[in-house]
Amino acid sequence: MPHRTIHLFRKGLRLHDNPTLLAALESSEVVYPVYILDRKFLTSVMHIGDLRWHFLLQSLEDLQKNLCQLGSCLLVIQGEYEPVLRDHVQKWNITQVTLDAEMEPFYKEMEASIRRLGEELGFEVLSLVGHSLYDTKRILDLNSGTPPLTYKRFLHILSLLGDPEVPVRNLTAEDFQRCRPPDPGLAECYRVPLPVDLKISLESLSPWRGGETEGLQRLEQHLTDQGWVASFTKPRTIPNSLLPSTTGLSPYFSMGCLSVRTFFYRLSNIYAQAKHHSLPPVSLQGQLLWREFFYTVASATPNFTKMAGNPICLQINWCEDAERLHKWKTAQTGFPWIDAIMTQLRQEGWIHHLARHAVACFLTRGDLWISWEEGMKVFEELLLDADYSINAGNWMWLSASAFFHQYTRIFCPVRFGRRTDPEGQYIRKYLPILKNFPSKYIYEPWTASEEEQKQAGCIIGQDYPFPMVNHKEASDHNLQLMKQVREEQYRTAQLTRDDTDDPMEIKVKRDHSEESISKGKVARMTE
Ligand code: FAD
Repeated sequence: MPHRTIHLFRKGLRLHDNPTLLAALESSEVVYPVYILDRKFLTSVMHIGDLRWHFLLQSLEDLQKNLCQLGSCLLVIQGEYEPVLRDHVQKWNITQVTLDAEMEPFYKEMEASIRRLGEELGFEVLSLVGHSLYDTKRILDLNSGTPPLTYKRFLHILSLLGDPEVPVRNLTAEDFQRCRPPDPGLAECYRVPLPVDLKISLESLSPWRGGETEGLQRLEQHLTDQGWVASFTKPRTIPNSLLPSTTGLSPYFSMGCLSVRTFFYRLSNIYAQAKHHSLPPVSLQGQLLWREFFYTVASATPNFTKMAGNPICLQINWCEDAERLHKWKTAQTGFPWIDAIMTQLRQEGWIHHLARHAVACFLTRGDLWISWEEGMKVFEELLLDADYSINAGNWMWLSASAFFHQYTRIFCPVRFGRRTDPEGQYIRKYLPILKNFPSKYIYEPWTASEEEQKQAGCIIGQDYPFPMVNHKEASDHNLQLMKQVREEQYRTAQLTRDDTDDPMEIKVKRDHSEESISKGKVARMTE
């Protein structure tokens, strides 16, 4: 008997490589493509901020348009998950609910509750993996039921598993014609809401537009430059270029507007034709494997997004300092490089990987000694690509709480950005108050004389803050603390340690150029 199916979109907001939707269409006489817009869940569990709201609504709008072109439609139903589903299963005599399997605890719990509802109301549930390259359970099985805790070990397990499954074929109008679409009137009742309907600020609009169509276009653009793709070497990309120097596809992967498997195999085709190509961990496929690595570890590590109760994470007595955290979050540290990055993050919802390194190191082990969990929460709210596993994994990495062990390498908030953008164009764009400073001062404007500050139209301490810490003193102090923690928790530190050096890390020598910050000025700032 063919099913009457609700296909539930959660992530996976796409029609290409969508194995679950394909299975729904192949097994049903009618398919209702549904997105349950549960505001409580999205705000209190997913913590989505305004920029991501816009991105989500644009992605839903695009999905609606693409479904419409194939003779179906998207039904966006507002309300809490369980009552909405219960109601519509009964109303539409549903016999099957299909949804992508996800690995986040809150999505797993949601699937479990849908399965309980299925037992109660008598519908079947089908869930398939579509958001990652592999079913992480298969990786765990091959590694004796535990996650491989280093990238090297992870790659070894993947070599035993072989290539990921190939993407499923694109959906066509025939697929939708084979079973009935929802009644035309329903689409009108359940349209995609506008931001104003949800009271989402219209001021916060990122230059990144959500949706599968935009994601695929960006993918195609990158893939036309086969030389760039084949030679991509992550540490050589530039954190402060005015346009992204990496693919900028992360927001699309994060919401599932783009399939990672599609990207992976398109890359394989290019590699197959190239004389030479870069390799993991620095190649583009290597980036997707980092994603997969964090997904795998997160799927089987208790309390992965927390320090307490997280067995792979160093337990550190971080400082609680709301005022300092606020300065970091609101781009008022007094270090233009850090503040420009935090401004780009707030305005656009995306920053380069090494820019993420800079601000994460500054907040945690570098300068402020504030917990990585605080930084992770800020990223979760502001990033378009915010992702449960990748965000927490990278924050643990940057704070040297897990995965990364060369903790004596601390990024200098003055030197780091200057290496790739000596004129400070990036700072001038995101912190226009500093735009008239000569290049030699743009990364440390407090070193300009009063006269020079007047000429630049920006008085430090008045129009732009003094640095909130003396980087040399703070980082020296924190280094000693970190050394002690690692000696005391040697065993935990070893859990995620590879015996090879970390090639992803750019070697930035610690420098002491901040000695030019006079103690008086710093003291005034911190008082
Ligand atoms: P590209 O270099 O073009 O890479 C292609 C894809 O590979 C990315 O889109 C992403 O899906 C994946 N990828 C790349 N780098 C990593 C990485 N280090 N770890 C895991 N996957 C990776 N990425 C997120 O997608 N969501 C997050 O919430 C997130 N939080 C981060 C927090 C911190 C503190 C740091 C240091 C990094 C974080 N990253 C996160 C990882 C990385 O910075 C972004 O994935 C990358 O910058 C996105 O840009 P891109 O698409 O141009 O990447």
